[in-house]
Amino acid sequence: FKCVNSTNSSNPTIEHLQSQSHRPRLRSFQTFKALIPYILAQRKHILAGWLCSIASVFSLSLLVPKIGKFSSIIDKIDAIKFWDQGLVLGILVFARFVASYCQEAFIWDAALNAIYEIRVHVFERVLAMDLDFFEGGTGVSAGDIAYRITAEASDVADTVYSLLNTVVPSMLQLSAMATQMLAISPVLSLISAMVIPCVALVIAYLGERQRRMSKMASLSVANLSSYLNEVLPAFLFVKANSAEFCENIRFQRLAHTDLYERLKKKKMKAFVPHVVQALYFLSLSMLCVGLLVVSRGSFSSGSMVSFVTSLGFLIEPVQKIGKAYNELKEGEPAIERLFELIEFKPSVIEACDAVDLNSVKGELKFCNVSFGYGINMPLVLDGLNLHIKAGETVAFMGPSGGGKTTLVKLLLRLYDPLSGDILIDNHNIRTVRFKSLRRNVGLVSQDMILFSGTVAENIGYCDLTKEIDMERVKEMAQIANADEFIRRLPKGYNTYIGPRGLMLSGGQKQRLAIARALYQNSSILVLDEATSALDSTSELLVRQALERLMENHTVLVIAHRLETVLMAKRVFILDGGKLEEIPRSTLSHSNYNSLMKTGLLSLQVLKLAFLSGLE
Ligand code: ADP
Ligand code: MG
Repeated sequence: FKCVNSTNSSNPTIEHLQSQSHRPRLRSFQTFKALIPYILAQRKHILAGWLCSIASVFSLSLLVPKIGKFSSIIDKIDAIKFWDQGLVLGILVFARFVASYCQEAFIWDAALNAIYEIRVHVFERVLAMDLDFFEGGTGVSAGDIAYRITAEASDVADTVYSLLNTVVPSMLQLSAMATQMLAISPVLSLISAMVIPCVALVIAYLGERQRRMSKMASLSVANLSSYLNEVLPAFLFVKANSAEFCENIRFQRLAHTDLYERLKKKKMKAFVPHVVQALYFLSLSMLCVGLLVVSRGSFSSGSMVSFVTSLGFLIEPVQKIGKAYNELKEGEPAIERLFELIEFKPSVIEACDAVDLNSVKGELKFCNVSFGYGINMPLVLDGLNLHIKAGETVAFMGPSGGGKTTLVKLLLRLYDPLSGDILIDNHNIRTVRFKSLRRNVGLVSQDMILFSGTVAENIGYCDLTKEIDMERVKEMAQIANADEFIRRLPKGYNTYIGPRGLMLSGGQKQRLAIARALYQNSSILVLDEATSALDSTSELLVRQALERLMENHTVLVIAHRLETVLMAKRVFILDGGKLEEIPRSTLSHSNYNSLMKTGLLSLQVLKLAFLSGLE
């Protein structure tokens, strides 16, 4: 992550990112400028490719007059010369083949390596975004980003290849062939070259239309990808609700839009080579007219063959340049969409002089913290003050949507408060390096996020610097009461748990997530409804384990179950943006149960009951 000055007011916002699709058309050059550093980094491969292209054009320049000579030998039926010239011709053809192949191989090497670097950079930038980028109302969907990094990056590779393979090699070939033609007959050359401006005009006109169509096609396929990314992980839900038909309709609508946009683009693209080809035939017929005008007598059949061959090889680069221009226009939206992700600046930024937190005790202070998601959104936290001593356990209750998870997000600096400060051991978290802050806060989140991989890999998550400490993994699994079920899995700790831990039950996933947070050995542990999916026996065991851990950790427990809440020394209710402490003595099973019995288990009611000391 690059350190960015936090006073930079020109950071693009998400609105900016989205509005870029509507901004007036700049400048293809601006778009391609972004590619230049990545292309320059591949200069060795590019130079090698271009050297090969020189060799290829050189052999072609020798080849063309030889073809002319060869045809005149056929005129005279001279067997010895036939074999001699044939051998030279063969060698030249082979040299051209090798040089052209090497040219393409080197240029592909450069293009694909450049795209690899861009992909790595884009992903690094995406991971450096703040949560708002994904969660915010105007956020970019994960499916869209996945599409940009996979398919659109591949399109950009094709564009870069076209660009590199055209600029120097085609220009070289064009000028070599033009020289040959001029040497044979300047008048005929000029007559047949008259079509070139027409080709250029047609291609320029079609190119601009193609760019617009390509942008629409990009958006439609990105929508399709976003949709699939959303619906496939929710497969169980779709089946359980018999929503296959409804989802089929939604898919068909999106797929049809994509079909329509793509077809429009492809039809336009198919048009271009045919136009160029037609113009080639036009130039040949103009050549015939030229021959009638210019005396044929001064032309040997050899020169004629050389001339027509040169014209063919002259049209080839013109066609290539046209195609490359086309591809550049087609690839422009993909380049823009990819580089938008690089240019985008997160709003939660690590300070340039941020420090590392060492040996954190775990004292937490929230000073007058206010926060809302977005400028015109209601405040979720309103002037919140809280002091948690090191090693203390504090519980938070409150109605769903009360802001408990938001409090955790602020503590992890996934968002910055609108006003107020959060301090860990008297260090304002704004002055602490992200990595150091987040390493010191172990989170078991509500969403039970697991990755495909083995049980052990999930518990020892992202310990890339060293080998996963299996002893520690097992120890933490035991504490989280997960060891027993893990041992019963087919391969124990080496069992693959499927994408997002699909092969595990909700309670099992939660216990793995708890073990993972414990493995991290943070001094502050946050359990955001981490035991909600456990049965009461497992919950009791996890609770006992947590009680042991509480001795040397600061623990923030967000829970609804009374037993869990009662583990804490202090209990708070978070509702309507305000935090209120409830005297622990007012919490008892009797009032909880009486509320259960009367069917009033709304936490709002529970809060009122607690506050009024209802027993
Ligand atoms: P809790 O964890 O207490 O159930 P949350 O902290 O998740 O509640 O949410 C608090 C409020 O903030 C809710 O009203 C919710 O709708 C809103 N909220 C949560 N996340 C976002 C978001 N990314 N963008 C906009 N509003 C959000
Ligand atoms: Mg929550």
